[in-house]
Amino acid sequence: MTQTIDWLSLTRDELREVLSSIGEAPFRADQLLKWFCLGAPPSEMTNLPRSLREKLSDGAQYPLFYPKIAKKQVSEIDGTVKYLFELHDGQLIESVVMKYEHGNTICVSTQAGCRMGCRFCASTLGGRIRDLSSGEILGQIISAQRDFGERISGVVMMGIGEPLDNYDNVMKFLKIVGSKDSLNIGYRHISLSSCGLVPKIYDLANESFPITLSISLHACCDEDRSRIMPVNDKYNIDSLLNACRDYFDKSGRRISFEYTLISGENDSPEQARKLAALLKKYFGSRPIHVNLIPLNHVSERNFTSGTKQDVKKFCDTLNSLKINATVRRRLGPDIDASCGQLRRKASAEAENV
Ligand code: SAH
Repeated sequence: MTQTIDWLSLTRDELREVLSSIGEAPFRADQLLKWFCLGAPPSEMTNLPRSLREKLSDGAQYPLFYPKIAKKQVSEIDGTVKYLFELHDGQLIESVVMKYEHGNTICVSTQAGCRMGCRFCASTLGGRIRDLSSGEILGQIISAQRDFGERISGVVMMGIGEPLDNYDNVMKFLKIVGSKDSLNIGYRHISLSSCGLVPKIYDLANESFPITLSISLHACCDEDRSRIMPVNDKYNIDSLLNACRDYFDKSGRRISFEYTLISGENDSPEQARKLAALLKKYFGSRPIHVNLIPLNHVSERNFTSGTKQDVKKFCDTLNSLKINATVRRRLGPDIDASCGQLRRKASAEAENV
């Protein structure tokens, strides 16, 4: 199906213009936006003229498309829901809804595939197929919320893809998702996770979105980092941490560092001490947080996670050196865990039929 108007990617002003260009009244934009937020199909849009509903219908001139649930897994342990969504061209992406005390948070994908090549990650195994449009990123929240039946009040861009490798669409998504005409999600409840595309971090600091920046650091020195993250050969730790400091100084937002613990690669107490020294050198007394993630095993990769004790020891070492660190609670341990795995499984199944 060709998608001739990417409805969910439009701001209110753009939607008004598009409506006029297809012979509809611009004031319908506000009604339409409310329906979009609900994930409603045109047949439910009862306060709109039939002519407009018909134009939006399947098979019509300008069909409206929401990401379609291709598969869904619900954790019986903590209620986490993982969705495999199909996009208008058949691409598959993943989103996860997590229940926290302060509200429901969704983890969204920003690209179909990824080209960053991190050695422990499942999302990058088949390379990058294409960028998602801002409406496709927003659409994951809309479709998930409709199915989940409760408001989603937080977003983390930690699904498939590198958000800063799809910069313009991600910026437009941020503009729309935080607007009162759309889902109106507060920027303080949005975080963006990046493997460290340094020039884009400087660009992000100049935008006016007070979101949290999470950086996938995963190592305490260039030698270790380059071994597991090819992006480090282009933007080394020094350039990355300087950019992060600039982001903090401009936005005032605490930087969060993700550190996936891989047995024998980056998880020794010695490496914890080096990490603490590194962060102190660049951030001094600025507030930072280290989020330790025990590795999720990816069958195509040789890496394993350390024991619970190794993880605790690494965390305790950082804390004893006055670095604020916590171990990420594993949500939905009974459903396919690492992002990218559900998509790969589904693609492999499709290839086998
Ligand atoms: N491209 C973005 C978002 C990626 S996913 C980024 O690199 O930050 C979010 C986090 O999960 C990243 O820190 C990523 O490095 C980490 N991750 C990827 N695969 C993992 C795995 N198998 N186990 C644990 N963490 C993983």
